Amino acid sequence: MSVAAAMTAPGETPAIEPFPLRGRSLFAEGSRLSDLANRFGTPLYVYSRAALESAWRAFDDALAGVPHQVCFAVKANSNLGLLDALARLGSGFDIVSGGELERVLAAGGDPARVIFSGVGKSRDEMRMGLEAGIRSFNVESPSELARLAEVAHEAGRVAPVALRVNPDVDPKTHPYIATGLESSKFGIPIAQARDLYARGAGMPSLRMAGVGCHIGSQITSLEPFRDALARVVALIDELAGDGIEITEVDVGGGLGIRYRDETPPSPAEYAAVVRDALGGRPVTVFLEPGRSVCGNAGVLLARVEYIKDNGGHRFAIVDAAMNDFIRPALYGGWSRIEPCERRDGEGRAVYTVAGPVCESGDFLGRDRELDIREGDFVALRSAGAYGFVMSSNYNSRPRAAEVMVDGDRVHLVRRRERASELHALESRLP
Ligand SMILES: *Cc1c(COP(=O)(O)O)cnc(C)c1O
Repeated sequence: MSVAAAMTAPGETPAIEPFPLRGRSLFAEGSRLSDLANRFGTPLYVYSRAALESAWRAFDDALAGVPHQVCFAVKANSNLGLLDALARLGSGFDIVSGGELERVLAAGGDPARVIFSGVGKSRDEMRMGLEAGIRSFNVESPSELARLAEVAHEAGRVAPVALRVNPDVDPKTHPYIATGLESSKFGIPIAQARDLYARGAGMPSLRMAGVGCHIGSQITSLEPFRDALARVVALIDELAGDGIEITEVDVGGGLGIRYRDETPPSPAEYAAVVRDALGGRPVTVFLEPGRSVCGNAGVLLARVEYIKDNGGHRFAIVDAAMNDFIRPALYGGWSRIEPCERRDGEGRAVYTVAGPVCESGDFLGRDRELDIREGDFVALRSAGAYGFVMSSNYNSRPRAAEVMVDGDRVHLVRRRERASELHALESRLP
C-alpha cells in the first residue's frame, strides 16, 4: 500500500494522505477515484481503511501508559464495514440510540466497550443496553437517573453509570454543535452533579462509577478542553470528599479536523491536555472521537451532469445533493471539491456546485474555481463524518453506495438503494 506519510513531530503517529493526486488522477489508496465512480456509480462515498485506522490509532497511541479505551462515536459514521474495521482494532463505541447498539453488535463490536450517551434514552433502549452488558450509561438528567434505576431494578441488574456533566464552557464552534454551554439541552449542570451522585449512590441498582463531559464538535483549540477537564477534575475531588470514588472519566469527543485551513490540535496534543488535567489520578479514560477518526477518511464522488450559466452565475449541477451530504446546508460546512481527473487548467471557471434537489439551499460548494466539463467526476473531501449518516431520501432519491478501499482491494460496504425500496414500506388505500 502506498500512502504518503506527511511530516510529523517525533513520537507522533504520522498523518497520512489517503486520497493523493498521482499524475492527473486522484486516488484512494491503490484505486483511481474515477475508476471507482465508473464501477459503482455516483453519488458514491469512498472510505480509506488505512486513513481510518491511522486516525483511530493516533488516539490510542497518544494515551499509551494511561488506562484508556477509545470509543468511536457511531453517529459520525455507522456503516457496518467501518465499525467492523474499528472493532478489529479493539475500539469501543459511543452510541446514542438502540439502533446504534444493534449496529455495533452486528458489526462484531464488544458490548463491554460500549458507552450509551444521549439525552432521551427510552426504557426499551435502557433494557437493550442492560441485556447487552454495555460498559456505561452516560446519564444526562435526574429523571433519567431515576428511570434507569427502575429499569435496572426490574431487570435484576446493576447499571453502570457516569453522569454527563455540563461544564459551561464555550467551545467556539458552530452553535448547532456546541453542547457544553449552560443553555444547551445536554448534560447536567456541574453545580447539581454532587447532589445527584449522592442520590445515585443510594440506589442499589446503580453503580456510580464515572463522570463524563462532551462540550461540542469541530473544536479547533485546546482551551475549551482544558477548561472543561479542570472543572470535571475538581468535581472528582469533591466527590472523593463525599466518599464517592470515581474510577472512570469520559472526556467526550469533539476534536476538530481540517476541512479548509483550520489548524486543529493533534490527538497527541489533545491527549497531553487530558494527562495534565488528570494529574495521575487512578482513573480509566474514555475518549469518544467521531469526526476526527473518520472525517478525513472519506470522500463523496459525484458526476457533473450539467453546466449552466444563469445571468453570469455559473452552476455545475452534479448528481450528489443535500440529501446525500447536508453539512453545507445545515452548518454552512465547507469541503474541498476537486475534479477526479485533472484537465489542463484552460477551462477554469468559478462555479456554484449544486445538486438536483428542489431547494435553493441545495449546494455542495460556492465560488469554487474548477476546470470541469459535463460528464467529469468530482470528489468532495472530508465527507467521512456526518456525511452518509445524515443522508435522507428527500425528493425520493435513493441513498448513495459506500465502498471501503483497503490497499489494492475495494469492498462494497453498502450497495446503492433502489427507487422501489423507498416506497416498499408504504401502501395504497384499501
Ligand atoms: C457527537 C458526540 C461525540 C462525537 O463528536 P465528534 O465531534 O464527532 O468527535 C462524542 N460523544 C458524544 C456524547 C456525542 O454526542
